[in-house]
Parts: sequence; structure tokens; C-alpha cells
Amino acid sequence: MAFADQEDVKRLRELIAGAESVVIFTGAGISTESGIPDFRSPGGLWTKYQPIDFRDFMASEEMRRESWRRKFAMDATMNAAEPNRGHRAVAQLVETGKASAVITQNIDGLHQVSGIPDLQVIELHGNATYAKCLGCGARHELAPIKEAFLADETMPICQSCGSEYMKTATISFGQSMPEDQMTRAQRETLACDLFIAIGSSLVVYPAAGFPVMAKQNGAGMVILNREPTDLDTHADLVINGEIGPTLGDAVAVN
Ligand code: NAD
Ligand code: ZN
Repeated sequence: MAFADQEDVKRLRELIAGAESVVIFTGAGISTESGIPDFRSPGGLWTKYQPIDFRDFMASEEMRRESWRRKFAMDATMNAAEPNRGHRAVAQLVETGKASAVITQNIDGLHQVSGIPDLQVIELHGNATYAKCLGCGARHELAPIKEAFLADETMPICQSCGSEYMKTATISFGQSMPEDQMTRAQRETLACDLFIAIGSSLVVYPAAGFPVMAKQNGAGMVILNREPTDLDTHADLVINGEIGPTLGDAVAVN
């Protein structure tokens, strides 16, 4: 575990103090300290599972079954996870009015659990804590789906429209992005004067387009990540360190 350079932490504190309106952008890295593995770190989910592309999910019942298997295999870890110091620091920036919104690629709902109102969390890749019917859009809670699936792999069917295309409310590779969230994320990005990207490898597009959009619009741009990212050359400040301690120190939150 590498700690951030204290000069960098000080610089981040100054940038935040000097900003009028901050947007926070988060990836899987902010939740690893809560026990949820990210995608691309050693031992991350990527090394265990190839993600199921949306086309394959739609084309094959076996793929849909496999996606429920994976979901419920991960469920205990997801349900046990609590916000960590990084989430708390972000929540404080929102609560004090310094940050207007959190744009997240995460599907774990931990920003909301940390106390940030739904209206200020923009979920670009959806949410894995409930399911959605792809036929009619109805929301479905996971508990009954899980019980039936774990008993004998019974596949869920939408009670509203009868569709068998039920999926966690997440956005898969190959699935179209949620338009309302993309619009909100763009509006926030263009309105901020400081954009802080935290715990993302910044390789998944279109999400990774927002830091560059902010920068091109004249905002300051900071990247906080354990390792280098593809967008480091665009940033005004790159901090390579652990998220919880770095952000906790910068914002003075435990
Ligand atoms: P990623 O796995 O590609 O990148 C995470 C980055 O965070 C890595 O570069 C890693 O080095 C860094 N990191 C991990 N822990 C850190 C820590 N404690 N301190 C500092 N840096 C740390 O994740 P991504 O860019 O978010 O893209 C992956 C996609 O997978 C996202 O679209 C997301 O929807 C999904 N995903 C979500 C979750 C979640 O909701 N928690 C978990 C895994 C994957
Ligand atoms: Zn339906």
C-alpha cells in the first residue's frame, strides 16, 4: 500500500479550497477499501470472469443464467460492504455544498449509503442492488428472485409484462447508456471548475470522456488513483496513493 506524497495532498486541499463547484467522478477503486473487488487490479473481477456482453445476455438463456449465478455469488460481499473513509470524504464535500454531484461508474450504491441524496449521485452504469425488466422497465426487488434462483436456478419472469429478460439494473458492455444520467453528468461536468476523478482506470468509455470534457471546458482536473491511468497527461494534478487515507486527509474526515 503506497501513501500519497504529502505535498500532493496539500495541493489537493488547496485546489478544493479555491474551487467554487467541484464534481467528483468515481470508479471501482473507491470501493475496494470496503471489500468490493475492482475490475482491473490483480485478483480483481476481470481475472475471474470475462464480462458478459449485452448481446450475449440477450441471445442466450444460458448467459442470463450465468449472470444470475455471478450476481448471487458476489451478493454476500456486496451486502456486507459499508462506505469507507473515501466515501465519507466525498459525502462531506457534497454536504458542505463544495461538491454539486458525484458521477459514479459504480453499481454498489455505497455513495447513497454514505448519506449523499439520490439526486446528487449520477449512476452511469446503473445499480446492482435491484433488478429491472428489459421488456417494460419495471423495477423488481432482488430478494424473491434470489430465493427462487438459489433453490433450483429458477429464472425470473416479469410479473408485469411476462418478459424473461430480467437483469440487475446495471449497464453491461454493449448496452446503451442511460440517457438521463448521461445528460445530467454532462451538465454537471460543464458547470464545475474542479473535476476530481477517483479510483478509475479511466479506460471505459463513454464514462472516461467526462474528465477530459471538464478539462477542455476550462476546469481544473485531478486524478487520484493507486496507479497511472490513460488520462494522466490531461490532469493538473495526479496523485498516486490509496484513496481513503489521501482523501480523508485532504478533506479532514475520518
Ligand atoms: P477499474 O477496476 O478499471 O479501475 C479501478 C482503479 O482503481 C484501478 O486503476 C486501481 O489501481 C485503482 N484502485 C483500486 N483500489 C484502490 C485504492 N484503494 N486506492 C487507490 N486506487 C485504487 O474500475 P473502473 O474504472 O471503475 O471500471 C470498471 C467498471 O466495472 C466500471 O464501469 C464499474 O461499473 C464496474 N465495477 C463496479 C464495481 C463497484 O460498483 N464497486 C466493482 C467492480 C467493477
Ligand atoms: Zn416487464
